Amino acid sequence: MAKQPIHILPDHIINKIAAGEVVERPASVVKELIENAIDAASKQIKVRVEKGGNQLIEVSDDGSGMNLENAKLAFVQHATSKINKEDDLYHISTMGFRGEALASIASVAEASIHTFDGTSKPISVTVTNDKIQAVSGSGRRQGTTVTIHNIFFKIPARRKFLRLENTEYKYVLDTFISLALANPQIAFSLEKDGKTTYDLKAGNSYTERIKQLFTKEAQGKLLPVSYQDSEIAIQGSIGHPNLAKNYAQAQYLFLNNRPIKDNLLTKAVKDGFGTTLMKGMYPMYFLYLAMKPDLFDINVHPRKTEAKFYNPQKVFYAVKHSISHTLETKLQAEFYQRVNLDRISPLPGKNTTPKSLKLPKVKEISASLEFSKELLEPIKDILQKRPDFLPAESLPGFYQIFNTYLLIERDNKLLVIDQHAADERVNYEKLNTELALNKKITSIPLLIPETLQLNPKENSIIINHLKTFRQLGFTVEPFSKTEHQLTEIPEFLQDHDYLTALKEILNDLDDYTTPNNALAKAAHKVISTIACHASIRAGQKLTPNLANYLINNLFKCELPYSCPHGRPIIWELNRTDLEKKFKRKL
Ligand code: ADP
Ligand code: MG
Repeated sequence: MAKQPIHILPDHIINKIAAGEVVERPASVVKELIENAIDAASKQIKVRVEKGGNQLIEVSDDGSGMNLENAKLAFVQHATSKINKEDDLYHISTMGFRGEALASIASVAEASIHTFDGTSKPISVTVTNDKIQAVSGSGRRQGTTVTIHNIFFKIPARRKFLRLENTEYKYVLDTFISLALANPQIAFSLEKDGKTTYDLKAGNSYTERIKQLFTKEAQGKLLPVSYQDSEIAIQGSIGHPNLAKNYAQAQYLFLNNRPIKDNLLTKAVKDGFGTTLMKGMYPMYFLYLAMKPDLFDINVHPRKTEAKFYNPQKVFYAVKHSISHTLETKLQAEFYQRVNLDRISPLPGKNTTPKSLKLPKVKEISASLEFSKELLEPIKDILQKRPDFLPAESLPGFYQIFNTYLLIERDNKLLVIDQHAADERVNYEKLNTELALNKKITSIPLLIPETLQLNPKENSIIINHLKTFRQLGFTVEPFSKTEHQLTEIPEFLQDHDYLTALKEILNDLDDYTTPNNALAKAAHKVISTIACHASIRAGQKLTPNLANYLINNLFKCELPYSCPHGRPIIWELNRTDLEKKFKRKL
């Protein structure tokens, strides 16, 4: 390409370049205009869109308004009333500060402002063909209306990228909802193609606004979150893990009332939910973080939706902890409420299998009943037996079916419990507590030490992590230059395949090249591994004592819903559902 002389670009091109970053689609315009209205201390913000915003976007507010001079300046690139000196950049308390939104928007669409500041005259300012034209004498009451027509009409290449109206409207709606959630003290309304779709009264709290927007979920299924340390405060709500869906749903993060997207925090939320969620399930959350403005930078992207934290670990911990704490306390309480522990009757006899556990194989199927497959599957075996095969004395207890699931009746529900997953959860929580309290898992010596058969890679991992293994209950000692001996094992694993467990832990620790904090980082994984190996298997016939012990301990767990790997432990069938199936109730 021929070398051109360097020249400074004219304003209208500069604006279009900036617009590429600020204005991605109609929703970006909605965001900038609502943010300006918020900064103008408005109490009521009305948004109107036509054809998903592709044709019209209008935001009206009852805020400060502007005088003629300011209304003209508003459209000039880098013109802002929100910061003055460099230092202000480090203490930003307004939504806008870059002074480029209106200039950028006006460079890609037809823009006009009607505004009145309450003292000077009501005025209108329009931008056509990059020229600012002012007309005084608009009929506005105090406040501002910004109207944007035909977004990207000047840039056909961008216009082509606009999606169907419905898709654009979804983005607009998400923007509207997130800003409404962030500002419950402001009344918001949204009109779509002439019809009001949202009309939110001003309220006093985040919770109130969440309720207005997510009425159904809010009915007892949202758990309050609250956290505070010297640098960060967190408030908000998280959805009960039961509300999790296999697609991304209402997930909102706010930093000082600004909606943000942040991968680190998304991960912290996920970790906070931990094993209460199955893999691939998305929880619902509304988290409001408050931090001093000098502890993060929002000026890392023109759209101001990302933040750079100066102490990311601390924020990560705070978010994760706020969620796990809520879940631990609330879920546990809730669970105790639902499952009346007193009603678990201890079963007689040690290591005996009562008749109830020996369900005879009867091929007879009650073909006349048309259950849904999902409902029928876990209890099929029981339903297929004739009732006289179930001895009366076993009725207050439980049944084991397929040598894998325990069935118990609690609070008008039939609970189906996966015995392996349940025991894994029980063992996991025990080991976790033990490690937290004693910094070590109890071990027992092997009568005859075992020489470990390890490949060179495994050997080097073990040398790196001798201390970690000791904490986990495995004492490994060098035997020869290339061999190691195992002298002690975790008490938990004495009747189990401890060698395979040890090999799996080697694998778990493989990611951590230095022993520093390896256990802290890999704790969840290695403890899950031990818990899994020490657990009752599927297919194992349980003695009543063992089953009783398991059920009792499961209900004492902090998170009895899912195993450490995230699989569910309990499946419930409501009495009402059964009654509907049998047409006892409609
Ligand atoms: P920024 O918000 O970064 O300052 P904008 O381009 O969004 O930049 O707006 C430029 C200026 O126009 C703002 O600083 C503000 O003074 C004024 N302004 C824009 N919208 C409004 C409004 N709705 N009410 C009052 N003033 C407004
Ligand atoms: Mg702005």
